Amino acid sequence: MLADGLIYNANIATFDDNIDMPAGTIAGGYVAWRNGVICAVDSGVPQKISASHAIDAKGKLVTPGFIDCHTHLIYAGDRAEEFEWRLQGRSYEDINRHGGGIMRTVEATRAAEPEELFALAKSRILRLFKSGVTTVEIKSGYGLNLEDELKLLHVIKRLQITFPLTFKATCLAAHVLPTDFVGSKDDYIAMVCNELLPTVKKQGLAESIDVFCEKIAFTPEHVRTLFSTAKSLGFTVKGHVEQLSQSCGIDVVCEFDGLSADHLEFANKEQIEKLQMSGSVAVLLPGAFYYLNQAHLPPVAAMRQLNVPMAVATDANPGTSPLFSITTAAHLACTQFALTPEEALRGVTLHAARALGLHQKKGVIKRQFDADLVLWSKERAVDLIYEMPCAEAEHIWIGGNIVTKEVFS
Ligand SMILES: [Zn+2]
Repeated sequence: MLADGLIYNANIATFDDNIDMPAGTIAGGYVAWRNGVICAVDSGVPQKISASHAIDAKGKLVTPGFIDCHTHLIYAGDRAEEFEWRLQGRSYEDINRHGGGIMRTVEATRAAEPEELFALAKSRILRLFKSGVTTVEIKSGYGLNLEDELKLLHVIKRLQITFPLTFKATCLAAHVLPTDFVGSKDDYIAMVCNELLPTVKKQGLAESIDVFCEKIAFTPEHVRTLFSTAKSLGFTVKGHVEQLSQSCGIDVVCEFDGLSADHLEFANKEQIEKLQMSGSVAVLLPGAFYYLNQAHLPPVAAMRQLNVPMAVATDANPGTSPLFSITTAAHLACTQFALTPEEALRGVTLHAARALGLHQKKGVIKRQFDADLVLWSKERAVDLIYEMPCAEAEHIWIGGNIVTKEVFS
């Protein structure tokens, strides 16, 4: 067989459910690809495969490229001051109600030129890439008016054109009600539905619509209105739900067969049953839980019992989760939410792929899947998240092409 690339003498953590080993690992195996797609993966020495690009992994670990399925990477400014305020005991809700929080980032982001936003996003994506990320979801949500939401989504489009990673764009115009909006929350959601979403669709700037359902943001009724319009326009939907209280946003995500319900600290067992029925992925965001010093844990035992896929993501954002390493997010999922290392790593591979609708081609090392691969100077999957700081990749291939950090320079 003629292949474009081959890695041999490797421990391959495939995350393939059909391989009954921790992380679906094939010890002492190989993986080969052709035209950007995996064409062979097996144990032992590759016979009858000739590849122009062949690497002896010397017993080191190969994983699928990691997938960060929930980030807010496009913003200007920082919120280090709030980090200090929270340490003094002020709550996130209180900070948001008094001009801090999301609106602070909105002001800085509106004032920034697209060029500056692009450069800032690039440096953040580089940090994720070093931790093994080859696919990133990015939300808007710091523009919060027609013009600035479109500005952010165009920056994401430019990232998609410029870099070889896979980017999924999500419109999160329903993040909070902007303080300068003239009108009610109902009026704002009407503006998003009637003006913004049709424009986003027409310009092909996003595939998914997201919302923050919480007392400080929008109600389940707003979510229902938003999702009906989004679905009628052909978008997929997802939501920030049950993060700070039982907002009941999760019920609406399930009603509309959302791709994912994200956060979920306050979800109850009945809601997790609904999630199971809808097939939506539970996206756990331990970085936000950690930074907000929350105490109310997401119902991981119920998710486990009902076999709800649990993805793990960074939630990379300037306020509640300034976290730019997917391996560290997986580590925090273990220490904060008591996931096993195996569950946490499945959360940044196959389940994260499902949360983005990419589970037919990414997140697993198997034939016909994209050749997004990471070689680590480690031997076992658990080694990626055991030490702090967590592991950084040695070599990364995206669609079968080796990609180095110089691509970001
Ligand atoms: Zn978020």
